[in-house]
Amino acid sequence: MLDRPYTFINSAMSADGKIATKRRKQVKISGPADFDRVDELRATSDAVMVGIGTVLADDPSLTVKSPERRQRRLRAGLDENPARIVVDSQARTPPTADIFNKGAGRRIIVVAKAAPADRVRALAEKAEIIVAGEASVDLREMAAQLKRRGIGRLMVEGGATLNYAMMSGRLVDELSVFVGGLIIGGRDAPTLMDGAGVAERSEAVGLKLARCEPMDEGIVLTWKVV
Ligand code: NAP
Repeated sequence: MLDRPYTFINSAMSADGKIATKRRKQVKISGPADFDRVDELRATSDAVMVGIGTVLADDPSLTVKSPERRQRRLRAGLDENPARIVVDSQARTPPTADIFNKGAGRRIIVVAKAAPADRVRALAEKAEIIVAGEASVDLREMAAQLKRRGIGRLMVEGGATLNYAMMSGRLVDELSVFVGGLIIGGRDAPTLMDGAGVAERSEAVGLKLARCEPMDEGIVLTWKVV
């Protein structure tokens, strides 16, 4: 049995691989059918996770939007929303963030040991705190702790840095991405996977295409990590 949750990344990118503009702000890439697909993925996950960069850029609530899906979760004895997790080494998540203010359910902030104690204390009033790693979050240790806390199915919703760190750390089982009919461009616009990248083809993470499905004005590609 895996010592970490079954983990998948879901994202939306432009035809040129960008997930936001050069101002690093959220941009509408997909349409109603894809929003609905993403809502179902959230509703069927134990937790939804983002990096602190995404919280600071977009302040997402990460809630399940459909009342029917929230009811379905309640009937199954679950919280209305999956647990919402922020990977945040230095405890920079603002206490006013929408993940705290919108919707019912667990919140988990993952910090490193080096996080300032006063900020961790303030966040502990609003969320469960996981400590993993020294200066920055050790994602493998985090994943093991999440599994022990009952997270069996984990959805990662970005951003670029966390996506790549999870993928290159071999902590991801599946990637699904909506590819939309627009070009965003810009060398500073975040892509699906940023971070250090590989120097050789042999170091790349291999994927096997599992599904492709036309949707809205684009296509959803689903890959299994080899
Ligand atoms: P991010 O990936 O959300 O968060 C990155 C941060 O996570 C790091 O800077 C780091 O900050 C923290 N972190 C903690 N431990 C880490 C580890 N072991 N490895 C890597 N990161 C770790 O931020 P981002 O790359 O700036 O992406 C944000 C952008 O993505 C925004 O422009 C947003 O609009 C976009 N976005 C798009 C989509 C989409 O589907 N289109 C979805 C989500 C986000 P600390 O060192 O402070 O911990």
